Amino acid sequence: MSDVGPPASNPDALVQVRNLTKHFDTEDGLLDGVEFTNEFPYVSRSTETVRAVDGVSFDIVEGETLGLVGESGCGKSTLARTVLRLLEPTDGSVYFQGDDLASLSGEPLRRKRKDMQMIFQDPQSSLDPRMKVGPIVEEPMRAHGMLDEEGREARAKELLEKVGLDPQHYNRYPHAFSGGQRQRVNLARALSVNPDFIVCDEPVSALDVSIQAQVLNTMEALQREFDLTYLFIAHDLSVIRHISDRVAVMYLGNVVEVADKEELFEHPKHPYTKALLDAIPVPDPRSGGRTATLTGDVPSPIDPPSGCRFRTRCPKVIQPAAYDLREDAWQNVLRFKRAVERRAFEETAPDVLRRRYFADAVPSGAAGTVLEEAFDRLERGAWDDAERLLTERFTDESVCATATPAYEVEPTLGDGRHYAACHLRRDEATASAVDDVTVEEPARSDPTALDADD
Ligand code: SF4
Repeated sequence: MSDVGPPASNPDALVQVRNLTKHFDTEDGLLDGVEFTNEFPYVSRSTETVRAVDGVSFDIVEGETLGLVGESGCGKSTLARTVLRLLEPTDGSVYFQGDDLASLSGEPLRRKRKDMQMIFQDPQSSLDPRMKVGPIVEEPMRAHGMLDEEGREARAKELLEKVGLDPQHYNRYPHAFSGGQRQRVNLARALSVNPDFIVCDEPVSALDVSIQAQVLNTMEALQREFDLTYLFIAHDLSVIRHISDRVAVMYLGNVVEVADKEELFEHPKHPYTKALLDAIPVPDPRSGGRTATLTGDVPSPIDPPSGCRFRTRCPKVIQPAAYDLREDAWQNVLRFKRAVERRAFEETAPDVLRRRYFADAVPSGAAGTVLEEAFDRLERGAWDDAERLLTERFTDESVCATATPAYEVEPTLGDGRHYAACHLRRDEATASAVDDVTVEEPARSDPTALDADD
């Protein structure tokens, strides 16, 4: 197992996550809590392994908020639960306050858990509808034997006030509260045992946008007052920007970029981060709103792509060493390849395709030979063969497929660290941990598929 996270760790960090890995065998029936978009076609397979979290490393220093962002299905929630050891890791370690959580069990682990709390996405289902909010807030204190009954009630009322609720509501049931108020009850409950670290799993995504900012402001105020450290998970980058000090971007079980917030938003280094940022809706109606730079589905975590996992959707895939095309010519090749993958055209006459995708001329040399062969296959209606040829000769032979990227680069803003798992950063890297991966030799499906250096 390779460590594809940031190469060095901060020994003073409150939380140090090293090479954390969580795999699920689909036959285990342990898929609850695994979030991945292609879930349903795969749950019936009996022996496959879902690589939900794969070699993730990061640190969180005391008092910091690390935002964790990524599309639905990238493994964020599984990572959160594995960090807290609500799920047993398959590999890797989590150090909290200097202790390796994997070395703890029984009572020592239970005591340590008091200092690590979690807030979940759905404020409705995470509150027992049969309990009044006072006893709900007191529950963790009771479980950890904190205070007597009177003391717990006083602390619950104090915390209700701290999170912006009326302490007189101690005897109300959850249904009497709005979504935002229920999430405040969850906050009070998490705070009741005086934790140091709270994992917040999409805590505001179920709330109206107008309420989100209020709850986020409350969370920031509580962080200052109680010296809290947050791991804050969200798929919404504006929420992440509001609350985070640093941001980690996750894609298909890997962390692909980590940097200070301003550095990441102003100078993203990874094409996936750039695509997420480009997809943020712009308030100006003249801008046309959301721009669709991120296309295609997240691949299955059962069989993730080799090398860089983003390569099947990346608009910047690096051309294989066997070719020497100008960037605009290489971009035309990628555009044509994507069109074939999506079956985006009906007219397959080679002349039409040449004009449509290579107006400046089809590249000459090895790349041109592959393209002409692809045109020929398309004209014969052999779409799958054409797609396979283009994938084998243009994508599978790229460094993006043959080596797993991990680079630290100089930040443009500030003096923090900037990690980017993208080979486009290899020339500016101050440190790297690149692993070559074994890619199966493509089964050349047609004897006319020529070697790239022909
Ligand atoms: S390594 Fe290659 S495929 Fe991955 S993000 Fe960078 S350019 Fe794109």
